[in-house]
Amino acid sequence: MNKLSAVIDKLVCYARKNLGLSAENEIYARNAVLDVLGSPDYAFTGETCTDTAPDMLLGELASVCGEEGIFTGDEREEYADKVMGALTLSPSEIRRRFARRLKVNSKSATDWFYSYCVKNDYVKKSRLDKNPRFEEGGLVITINKAKPEFRDPKKAASGNSVKGGYPKCAICRENEACPVRNKRTLRTVDLLLDGEKWFWQYSPYGYFYQHGIAVNCEHTPCTWTGALS
Ligand SMILES: [Zn+2]
Repeated sequence: MNKLSAVIDKLVCYARKNLGLSAENEIYARNAVLDVLGSPDYAFTGETCTDTAPDMLLGELASVCGEEGIFTGDEREEYADKVMGALTLSPSEIRRRFARRLKVNSKSATDWFYSYCVKNDYVKKSRLDKNPRFEEGGLVITINKAKPEFRDPKKAASGNSVKGGYPKCAICRENEACPVRNKRTLRTVDLLLDGEKWFWQYSPYGYFYQHGIAVNCEHTPCTWTGALS
């Protein structure tokens, strides 16, 4: 059996079970994955997948693609982002499903959205779970070893600024599904705060469970307006 075809079938099966991929869009999603991988030889294998987290499958994909010379270890994150982006529901579909749940129960809506962002590999939960964590007398300290900024001083120094001006910054809504900084899997939902349009997203390298961010739909740089005393 062709190993690459088998892993592609498992990924599509995973998306059907975990990412809301409909039967109607199955061919469309598979072809998008084939496109991402440079249109390799493919034949349906019927392989299925019972995983409920993406890590094992993405590891298998990287290993097979390495053997086939499709991408190298350095490109693993980029290809994982491309493949999972192709298997993730569109922003409008995510918002529709979130809004439907929100009408019934806000906690079930945010639980569903967080779980979706873990399953589509945006929130790197398996890596976050490995962070050292200390809890004493109600105080919780987490050392975030997962965050790329903490491994790369250049990234830390650049903060939220983005070269080239699009998106205007690292948290602007234009990052949704954006190839810049591997945000193809990012999905956001609408928020209305005091009549202003904001949106909500989960942090890929959050400090705590369901760590999310509310962001203004209009790019508004944080500027210091107070007086130093
Ligand atoms: Zn911005």
